[in-house]
Amino acid sequence: MRGKDLRVPIEEIERQREIMRLVRETDDRPQTYHIVTYGCQMNVQDSQKIAGMLEEMGLSYTDERESADFVIFNTCCVRDNAERRALGNVTWLNEIKKKNPKLLIGVCGCMIQQPQMADRILRQYPFIDLAFGTQNLYRFPELLRQLLSSRSRVVSVAQGDEFDSVPEGLPIRRVRHEQAFMTIMYGCNNFCTYCVVPLVRGRERSRKADMILSEAQELKNDGVREVMLLGQNVNSYGKDLNGEMSFPSLLRALDDTGIERIRFMTSHPKDLSQELIDVMAAGKHIMPHVHLPVQSGSDRILTAMNRHYTRAQYMGIIARLRTAMPEVGISTDIIVGFPGETDEDFEDTLSLVREARFDSAFTFVYSPRAGTKAAEMDCQIPPEISKARIEALIALQEEMTGRALESMIGKTVTVLVEGLSKRSENQVMGKCERGITVHFDGGESDMGSMIPVKITASRTNSLCGERI
Ligand code: SF4
Repeated sequence: MRGKDLRVPIEEIERQREIMRLVRETDDRPQTYHIVTYGCQMNVQDSQKIAGMLEEMGLSYTDERESADFVIFNTCCVRDNAERRALGNVTWLNEIKKKNPKLLIGVCGCMIQQPQMADRILRQYPFIDLAFGTQNLYRFPELLRQLLSSRSRVVSVAQGDEFDSVPEGLPIRRVRHEQAFMTIMYGCNNFCTYCVVPLVRGRERSRKADMILSEAQELKNDGVREVMLLGQNVNSYGKDLNGEMSFPSLLRALDDTGIERIRFMTSHPKDLSQELIDVMAAGKHIMPHVHLPVQSGSDRILTAMNRHYTRAQYMGIIARLRTAMPEVGISTDIIVGFPGETDEDFEDTLSLVREARFDSAFTFVYSPRAGTKAAEMDCQIPPEISKARIEALIALQEEMTGRALESMIGKTVTVLVEGLSKRSENQVMGKCERGITVHFDGGESDMGSMIPVKITASRTNSLCGERI
C-alpha cells in the first residue's frame, strides 16, 4: 500500500454530491433526522459527516429521537457493552416504528464492518432499513437513495479497494463553531491482541498533507480556534506516504497556519519520538497535552498485548515530556483483567499509575472481541476479579487526579469557552491548555472566547476559577 494514492476519486465524490441534490428534490424523502453516536472521536467525526450529507439532502436535525423520520446509530465494537447498548437501542426503536411505519432506521460504523455482522443484521433485525460500514461512508447518499426508491432494505459493507479508501471533500456539520475535529489518518497497523480496530477500520492510510493544511486554513478562516487532529495512531502519520511528511513535520506546518490551538489523539508510545516532543515544546499553538495509552504496568502483559514497549520505556517518555514541558498534562487508557493478568501484574499497573501521575485515565475491563488473538487466549479472568481490580484502579486514579488538580490551584490558565456549565446557570466551562475542564462565572456572550482564569479550587474531575 506504501505510496499508493488511496483517495476516493474526485469524480466519485462529485457523483455522491449529485445524488444528494437528487434526494433533496425528492418529494417523499424523510424531513428530519437524529444520530446516536457510540465510541471514539473518530465516530463523532463520522457522524458529523453523515449529518453534513443529510443536511445537503434537505433533512433537518431534531433532538427528538422518537419523532425523527430517520434515525441512525453510528456504532462502536471496541467493547462488548457498546455493541449490546447499540443493538438494545435499535430494538427499542422498533417499538416506535410499529406506531410510525414511515420511520427509517439506519445502523453504521465499526460494528457493521465486522465479519458476519451484515448477515446477522439481515437475519435478526428485519426492522433495520439501512446498514453500512465505516469504510464506505462516502457512499451513504447513494445507499439512502437506493433505500428511498426501492423501499427495501439496503446493507452494504466495504470490501476490496473500498475497504482501504481515503475520502476527501464530504460535507460536514460541525456542532461547535470554535472547535473542530480533523481526521488526519485512518486505520491502524498495530494489531494489539485485544483490539478489533485494524479488522474493522483497515490498515493505516494518511491523508495528504496539502489536503490537511488547506482544511486547517479553511477552518481558521471560518473562525475555528481549536482543532483536534484525529487518528488511531497519529504518531505514525505519513509512514504510508513515502516519507512525504512525518507527524512532527505536519504539526510544525499546522502550527504555522496560526490556528490558535492544536491538539491531537491518539498517540502510541512506541511511535512517540523525541522530535515530536521538541516540536510540541517549541510550538506556539500546540497544546501541552498528550493522551498516551499505557494499557498495563506489567511488561509481561504488555508483551501479551503486542504493545511493543516496556514499562521502563513508557516511563522514559513521560519523563522526557515533563522535562521538555513541565506543565504538560498526560492522560491514558488502562485495561484490567487481560487474559493471564495475575495479582502481581495488576500491582505493577497500580504502581505505574502512582509513578506516572496522570491527569486522568479511561479505565476498562478487558472485553474479548471476536477475531482478536486475546479472545483465543487461555486464562480469561473471572468477572469478579476484574471487577475488584477496576474498582481499586478507579479509586487510585481518582486520588491521583485529585492531586494533579490541586497542584493547579493558584495558577493562571487560558480557557476556550465551550458552553454553559451544567452546575450553575451563571457559569461557563471550557478546557485549559492541558485539557482540563475549568468552570467560572460567565454567560452566553463568552462562548468561543479565550479567557484568562486564575484557578481557585478543584473538584473531582475539573477546576474552578475566577476570570482575570
Ligand atoms: S494501536 Fe492497538 S489499541 Fe490502538 S487502534 Fe491500533 S490495534 Fe487498537
